[in-house]
Amino acid sequence: MTDPAHKYTDRDVRELPYLTQIAYTYLDAYHGDFEFLLDAKRIHAYQGVLSIATIRGVLNCMRADPRWAGYLPIAPSCVSPGLVTPRLRTVNLQRPARIKLNARFKMPYLMSTWPTAQVVHMLNRDRTELWWYPHVLEYRWVPAAYCGGLRWRTNYLMMLHDIPADRRLCLRCVAIYEGGK
Ligand SMILES: [Zn+2]
Repeated sequence: MTDPAHKYTDRDVRELPYLTQIAYTYLDAYHGDFEFLLDAKRIHAYQGVLSIATIRGVLNCMRADPRWAGYLPIAPSCVSPGLVTPRLRTVNLQRPARIKLNARFKMPYLMSTWPTAQVVHMLNRDRTELWWYPHVLEYRWVPAAYCGGLRWRTNYLMMLHDIPADRRLCLRCVAIYEGGK
């Protein structure tokens, strides 16, 4: 079960890059008088980056800020494996649920990470999308293969520069790609 009182750990910060982004966004807008946050804000302004421990500290300060607490993801380290992570505690209904971003995907191939998968698909860049979810401060991508397979199952997908030796290219993808040229 999740415990809302659970604090962020260094590991949370290391494993979820968007937590760092949240902390930086917060510091840039911070105009309070808490010394720790002011120091962090100064260091971030001069150096551009902060240590993991400092970022973790900033996030745990944010938990006490009512304007932000509701937007913070629950610390992953307190969620048991196998449970769906409840990311939200409050929702501001005036924010859009998601915003489509202009993104260019450079990698040409798409592959399921299931160990039994044998095929690498060709990424259809025109139909692959990147979305920003303001309520959870998260990016999610919606990939599209030329053959139409794999869409939405992003938890089990990765983009690739090259076809691994033990996989083969999806022939349906090739046929549709060649047909569309
Ligand atoms: Zn395919």
